[in-house]
Amino acid sequence: MNTTFIAMGVALLAGIGLVVTVGVFSLLSGAFHFLFAKPRFTILKSKTDSNGFAFSLKWNSSREPAKFDSIRLRLYNPFSTPTQVDVTRTFDAASSSFARDLDFGKNLEQLLAACNHESASVEVEMGASKDALVHHFMFKAEKFKAMVESATGDADKFNEDHTLNYAKPLYHTPKRSFIAEPLPASNKALKISSNPEFAGAFAGSGGDAAAVENFAVSKVWIEPGCIVCDACEAIFPEVFEVTDDSCIIRPGAPLDNGILVEEAAEACPVEVIKFTKA
Ligand code: SF4
Repeated sequence: MNTTFIAMGVALLAGIGLVVTVGVFSLLSGAFHFLFAKPRFTILKSKTDSNGFAFSLKWNSSREPAKFDSIRLRLYNPFSTPTQVDVTRTFDAASSSFARDLDFGKNLEQLLAACNHESASVEVEMGASKDALVHHFMFKAEKFKAMVESATGDADKFNEDHTLNYAKPLYHTPKRSFIAEPLPASNKALKISSNPEFAGAFAGSGGDAAAVENFAVSKVWIEPGCIVCDACEAIFPEVFEVTDDSCIIRPGAPLDNGILVEEAAEACPVEVIKFTKA
């Protein structure tokens, strides 16, 4: 009897311990994300005249793939005039950390001039129109104005420091033995014996010569480490979209052509394309 109670007590404590551990880990992970993985908006020094506004945005693009292409500045000034100033600018979209130096016209002068009331605030809205994503950053208006006036670092330097350098190949490209359409960059013709179009080329080779039937996949995804070589998009553009710094699976991508997915996965020099058969 006593032994049973002790065993039940130990099991109960172990269960509680497990729940507490999982809870602590998830709290720590949430806190880490809140503190370190949040998008970071920084005001830079504009190189243009008094209507210029320069800024940078850093965010975790592998976790949140998006192409940001607009910025909106909104002043809320309930106890003074003007009560609101609202100005939006669009720019060439960027899918990784970037900076821009834009002309905001007279509205910026008007906005900064109205920043002196202590109850006023400025909201910065960074938008990715194609990805339906918006990040908001709120500032006390006085602080916003002070940040503009004391900003250092310019957009060109930021972009120079944060441009991904694709010139040096960091990865060894494994040799492959399959065929696809010649890739646009290298013009290399690749062969794959499972592709019915090229199966004949392998006949009599003693290898995997027979064409296989096509198959569907239930899931295809990209693991971290893409070197944006464009091979997958060249092979199956309906499924793979290569962005500035990674590759994503297009929303609603067709999953019924497993051979092409497999071909792209095999063409990937760093083997980050994964899929499961349906
Ligand atoms: S083939 Fe691989 S490395 Fe190249 S773009 Fe596609 S996922 Fe990235």
